[in-house]
Amino acid sequence: ARTPIIAGNWKMFKTVSEAVSFFNEVKGGAEVDGVESVICAPFTNLPALVEAAKGTKIAIGAQNLHFEDNGAYTGEISGVMLADLGVKYVIVGHSERRAYFGETDEIVNKKVVAAFKHGLTPILCVGEKLEEREAGETKNVCKVQTEGGLKGLSAEQAAKTVIAYEPIWAIGTGKSSTAGDAEDVIAYIREVVASLYDQATADAVRIQYGGSVKPANVQEYMGQANIDGALVGGASLEPASYIALVEGA
Ligand code: 13P
Repeated sequence: ARTPIIAGNWKMFKTVSEAVSFFNEVKGGAEVDGVESVICAPFTNLPALVEAAKGTKIAIGAQNLHFEDNGAYTGEISGVMLADLGVKYVIVGHSERRAYFGETDEIVNKKVVAAFKHGLTPILCVGEKLEEREAGETKNVCKVQTEGGLKGLSAEQAAKTVIAYEPIWAIGTGKSSTAGDAEDVIAYIREVVASLYDQATADAVRIQYGGSVKPANVQEYMGQANIDGALVGGASLEPASYIALVEGA
């Protein structure tokens, strides 16, 4: 059985002191047996959060990494640096990075490969735009992004990758996908993994839903056979809400 995983994606929110006070409030609450709980914070918060998370069941993640280990890449942060801090997860290919920072499937793939090189677990984001959904392209877009993101990985690495299905029209809009529609796409993404590797790999990979998930709807998603957790933006920023999400999983 797959362990459900709730990950908060804070995006560009919270100073160090805000991050630490959030953590002190969720500690204990957002720690549930049989559920993995991950906070993906801005780079500046990571040292303090890794320190605060010691001895808890909450893991800390980054929201991006550069695919090179070192070099003349002004403003970038590498997997070497994240692993050295004690970060365990890294979000890769979020739709905001694809849309505003030019990340292609090729770049996303290099980042996934770099994450594994440094022992970080990538949370690979895939999902369609509204126009693509309306054009009946949802599954094809998810297939191309899943295949592109996983390219060159061993079956063992693919099985460890967390995939987050985030329909772009559902992000930050309050318009979440129905649990049934999300299940349909996520079951399809699992079939894509099976055809790239084998059924055992597809059965092992965890696939989250993301897009306007909140405490009031998380259980509908968790009730679906193929949905293994959620990647949550807005509703992960407030301690009581984050605790409720982890408890709801
Ligand atoms: P919201 O939960 O705010 O819709 O954001 C989803 C998301 O983009 C998480 O990565």
